[in-house]
Amino acid sequence: MTPRPEFDPSTLARTERMVGRRAVNEIVSLFLEHAPAEVEALQRAARSGSCDAAARAAHSLRSSAFNVGALRLYDLAGELERHATARDAAALERDVEPLDGSFALVRSELERHARSLTAKRIAVIEDNPDNRVLTRALLESRFEIVEFENGPDAIAALGEAAPDLILLDISLPGLDGVEVLRRLRAIDVLGEVPVIALTAHAMSDDRSRLLEAGFDEYVAKPILDEADLIGPIDRLLGAK
Ligand code: MN
Repeated sequence: MTPRPEFDPSTLARTERMVGRRAVNEIVSLFLEHAPAEVEALQRAARSGSCDAAARAAHSLRSSAFNVGALRLYDLAGELERHATARDAAALERDVEPLDGSFALVRSELERHARSLTAKRIAVIEDNPDNRVLTRALLESRFEIVEFENGPDAIAALGEAAPDLILLDISLPGLDGVEVLRRLRAIDVLGEVPVIALTAHAMSDDRSRLLEAGFDEYVAKPILDEADLIGPIDRLLGAK
């Protein structure tokens, strides 16, 4: 039998559709909290030939692995549970070997997933690909980033899933940033989302003009110091 993939992210996506992001987040946290002890108990029992203890540990690890999409770990635990139930201590000791490696892989995948679940989501609306790359590089270690090249795409998508904050380029082809802001603000779920204007225009009246138009903050491009961008973002997200 070919081993199944170590980790199946679609399991979590499916669960999120059914029960929501908060519940998935809790399931992942519970797994990360309890699975290390279950893995350790199973290894100890398997190596010392304690079939009853191994069967219990394998059974509980198996069901928690399934819930988070840890397919290979689920199969391994199932195999160990069968050996334990058959009181086959030699097979237990032999087949417990890959457990550590499998669990380490799943743990790092889930930790990454947990970070993306708890990270605030920032939408970047910017037509210049270089600027999108720079903005993403500055922000992606701390935030989940979604990008749009133009206003209409952003308006359609963000109305369905509101971000925590929006970075909006003023100079966009077609609808400019001020018009995009007006349309975003007209959408119920986006009315209160902080929006930062990104503009290359170093005009002295830009700031007051943009704040008057309804932007919460203004950041001039090029961004020379990351604090110029991260400062206003943290302030606006903290003030929410
Ligand atoms: Mn632009």
